[in-house]
Amino acid sequence: MKEIFRRRARYLPLPERANDANRRVPDNMWISCSRCHELIYAKEYEDNFKVCSKCKYHFRLSPRERLAILLDDDSFVEHDERLCSADPLHFAAGDVRYVDKLEEDRRTAGTREAVTCGVGAVEGQRVSIVVHNSTFRGGSMGVAVGEKVARAIDRAADEDIPLIIVSASGGARQQEGVFALMQMAKTVAALDRLRERKLPYLSILTDPTVGGVPASYALLGDINMAEPGAFIGFAGPRVIEQATKQKLPADVNTAEFMLQHGMIDLVVPRSEMRATVSTLLRLYTARTYAGGQGAGYAALREMAVVDARNGRHAS
Ligand SMILES: [Zn+2]
Repeated sequence: MKEIFRRRARYLPLPERANDANRRVPDNMWISCSRCHELIYAKEYEDNFKVCSKCKYHFRLSPRERLAILLDDDSFVEHDERLCSADPLHFAAGDVRYVDKLEEDRRTAGTREAVTCGVGAVEGQRVSIVVHNSTFRGGSMGVAVGEKVARAIDRAADEDIPLIIVSASGGARQQEGVFALMQMAKTVAALDRLRERKLPYLSILTDPTVGGVPASYALLGDINMAEPGAFIGFAGPRVIEQATKQKLPADVNTAEFMLQHGMIDLVVPRSEMRATVSTLLRLYTARTYAGGQGAGYAALREMAVVDARNGRHAS
């Protein structure tokens, strides 16, 4: 699976927001971490799922890399691949037309829209999955994104399988105005249908997840988890300070602050994400306990062992 990080063309320096192709580096090269500025050996960086070994900074991933980390090899089947924005407002800012920006992003971001949706398996457990692409219009939610997310939720309900959404988004897409905002209601209504079917939804928030996405589906998971250091929130600290006239803590928008204040349930390092997701899926989907010896019981025991190893205690 780690080979996924070594397959494409290779360039330096590593641009944090660049498309897939520009993320490759030669194996014998060094990468400068964009947070601590230490040099990291490229092979070590890629073997480490693009996490800085010095400061644990989690670099942003493309949908393809994210799916490779989470899902079983060759299990992913994409749905609604061709569904993309139709520019409902015929938006232009000066001479710059929104349709042209969309076309540009399609060429550079590696996907036709800001989310990739489909069905795959996590350690043999089928799931409906959505992954944001933060390099496509900042991962923002327009009409097509909302429709794709809602369809992915309905697919989970129809196929009686769990839902996973990996968010990385700048919020509602301003070029689609109120139509983008309407996607918040549409996706939340779809999640309600999933809840009626008693199917689990695991939400994974990655850097950054802000605006209308955490204000709708990203914080409505049965479990909401985030990667370490991820920037999360409805608005940035400057906007909140201007509105409330109060000084905020420097780390107010971090995953760790959100965990401390009960906004999310878990902060999970990238290297542990797949195992954690798999365990949670087994916990939520175990329909029989067979006198305490069923799959749910085994998963619960496994989590307790992981918690004890990490010095955490269940509350
Ligand atoms: Zn670093």
